[in-house]
Amino acid sequence: MSFEAARHLVEHHASSVAALDVEPIDLLAGLGRVLAEEIVADRDFPTFARATRDGYAVRSADVEQVPARLQVVGEIKAGYSPETLGILVDHGQAASIMTGAPLPPGADAVVMIEHTKPCLTPLSSISVEILRSVKCGENFVARGNEAYAGQSLLKRGRRLDHTGIAIAASVGKGQLQVFRKPRVAVLSTGDELVGFDATPGPAQIRNSNSYSLSAQVQNVGGEAVILPVAADETERLRALIEQGLTFDLLLLSGGVSMGKYDLVEQVLGERGAEFYFRGAEIQPGRPVVFGSCVFSAPGERPHKKYFFGLPGNPVSTMVTFELFARPMVEALAGMTPQPLVFVYARLRSEIRTKTGLRRFLPALLSGEFENAEVELARWQGSGDIAALARTNCYVVIPPDRERIDAGEWVALLLR
Ligand code: AMP
Ligand code: MG
Repeated sequence: MSFEAARHLVEHHASSVAALDVEPIDLLAGLGRVLAEEIVADRDFPTFARATRDGYAVRSADVEQVPARLQVVGEIKAGYSPETLGILVDHGQAASIMTGAPLPPGADAVVMIEHTKPCLTPLSSISVEILRSVKCGENFVARGNEAYAGQSLLKRGRRLDHTGIAIAASVGKGQLQVFRKPRVAVLSTGDELVGFDATPGPAQIRNSNSYSLSAQVQNVGGEAVILPVAADETERLRALIEQGLTFDLLLLSGGVSMGKYDLVEQVLGERGAEFYFRGAEIQPGRPVVFGSCVFSAPGERPHKKYFFGLPGNPVSTMVTFELFARPMVEALAGMTPQPLVFVYARLRSEIRTKTGLRRFLPALLSGEFENAEVELARWQGSGDIAALARTNCYVVIPPDRERIDAGEWVALLLR
C-alpha cells in the first residue's frame, strides 16, 4: 500500500475513536494536555483602548500640520485609568502615555515619543512639540479589536502549548477541563533484547525501542506503559498481546518482517485481528502493520482495540510511530486531527536512490536564514541510531524520483 493510502486509513480510523473521560487540571499542569472545553474571552480584548507605544495621546486633527505644539495635560501609566486621574485631551492638548495604558477620552491616536520634542515654556504650563502627523486610530488597539467578550479563543480538542496557557491565564481560568490521557501499551519483541540495566551477552542488545516509543507517546499527549519484553515464542507473545489489548492502544515493536521468528502477525491473526494494512511502500519501516482486535473487558461491551506492529529496527520504529501511530494516539487523546507538516530546504548534495518507495531519510538541516540547507546523514541503515542522533529531520523522497540534484528544494519532516 502506498504511504498516502496507509496514512489515510489511519486517519480514517482515528476520526472514529471516542475521546476519553474529562478531568480538571490546574492551569500550568495543563501544558501538553488536550482541552475538553472551549475557552472563550470573558471580556473584550483589550477591555480599554490600549496604547501600543510610549508617547503622547493626541487628537489627530491637531497634528495634521507639523511641527505642532500641544499643551501636556497629564501622564497616564499602564495600570491607571485616565477617568480616575481626571485626564481628558481637548483641542490643542496632549497627554503623556505609556505602552499598555488606556487612551484618555478625547484622544484618537498616539504619537511615538521618538517623534516628539520637549519644549521650553513658561513654568505654569508644560508643552510638547509633535514632529510627525498620526492618523486617527494609530498606535493603540481599540476596545474589543483583538477579541470580543464571548468569542471563542481556543477550541475543544486543542493541545495546550504556552500560547494556550497564556490565553487561559488571560481569561482567568485557573483550572481547565482536559481529556484523560490515553494509556498506550508498549510491547517490544525479540529474543536478543535485555533491559538497559543488564550487561548484554555476546549476541544480545539492550532494548531501546520500548523507551523511544514511550518518549514519543508522551510527547504527543499519551501515557506510555511498558510491558515486559516478549521473546520470539508464541505463547508468551500471545499472553502479552492480550495484556496489551486492555490498554487504549497497543504498540508492538519487532517481529513483523519476513523472518521465521517474526510471529507478531501470526499471533494477532489467530487472535482474530483485522488488518487494515500489512506493509507500506516506505523506507524505513516497510513492514509496518495496522489493525484492530475485538476486545471485551469484564462488564463492558466488546469493542475495537487498535494496534500497530512497528518494525524493530530502531529508526524504523521511530519513523513509523511518527507517520502512523501518532495520529491515533492524538485522536485517543481527544485532539483535533493535525496534518503532517513539511518544510522545504535546498539539498546540499545530490541524492541517488531507487524508485518505488517514499523515503524518509535522516538528515541534518543547517545554515541560517536564507542559507539553510539539508544533507543526508551517512548511516548504516535503519538500525543506526548513532547516525540518527546526529540529525534533526528526515528528507522526504517521493517514490518516483531516482535522483535529486544538489540545490533542489526537498520536503523535510522536522523532528
Ligand atoms: P525485527 O523487526 O524484530 O526483525 O528487528 C529488526 C532489528 O531491530 C533487529 O536488528 C533487532 O535486534 C532490532 N530490534 C528489535 N527490537 C528492538 C528493540 N526493542 N530495541 C532495539 N533494537 C531492536
Ligand atoms: Mg525480532
